[in-house]
Amino acid sequence: MELTVIGSSSEGNSYVLQNAGEALLLEAGKPFKHTLAALGGNLRKVVGCLITHEHGDHAGRISEVLNYAVPVFASQGTIEGAEKYIRSNYQPNAIRAGAGGYERLNLGGFTVIPFPAKHDAAEPLGFYIWHEETGGILFATDTYYLPCTFKGLSNILIECNYDPDILARRVADGDIPEVLQERVRRSHLSYYTCLDALRANDLTAVNNIVLIHISDGNGDGVAFREGIAKATGKTVHIAKPGLKIKFNKTPF
Ligand SMILES: [Zn+2]
Ligand SMILES: [Zn+2]
Repeated sequence: MELTVIGSSSEGNSYVLQNAGEALLLEAGKPFKHTLAALGGNLRKVVGCLITHEHGDHAGRISEVLNYAVPVFASQGTIEGAEKYIRSNYQPNAIRAGAGGYERLNLGGFTVIPFPAKHDAAEPLGFYIWHEETGGILFATDTYYLPCTFKGLSNILIECNYDPDILARRVADGDIPEVLQERVRRSHLSYYTCLDALRANDLTAVNNIVLIHISDGNGDGVAFREGIAKATGKTVHIAKPGLKIKFNKTPF
């Protein structure tokens, strides 16, 4: 299996997970032509598209995905919140992250378990994804805290949005208003919370940690990667458009 990063920032988020026969899309925040190119034009192998929440950088291109008859899955709150973006004869499918047992979705060889995220959105989700080839994948973005731990992780896509010190310095310098600092703190994962979330999980079998949705102004990708690689001893990547990574259960 291979992960392709199409976009991973407040400019637009979109990822493709694919092997020769199957593909799962994550988010709909970039023009679909990039996804089509990553798929080599092979739409038939797409089993679905998962959307975490209704913000434009994640759901803004939802109609393009729907118009290609790709099954789209999001929470009811996300679907309602993304209404202004939905201009298609096809409709997204509602999925739930229950307080008790989570809903389980089977899409081709992928099993998807949604979990609640903590973000300034109606009903944001994160996803635990399992596939025979990849093992367990954690996909967590736009969440100021990670409420769950996960078993059997082999690959991780996790938000590492900002460094609280950079954020505070920018407020002190008058670069950004204090209210924006508050918004970021209550909606995105800081470097330290990302590190805590990683440490709360068993990383023994993890092959890749991909840091996603890094803020241009409030983050430092290179420092984040170094710090997290040092703390976890794992291979850490910075998600950038065009990045491709082998996402397998075995480390190659
Ligand atoms: Zn976002
Ligand atoms: Zn958001």
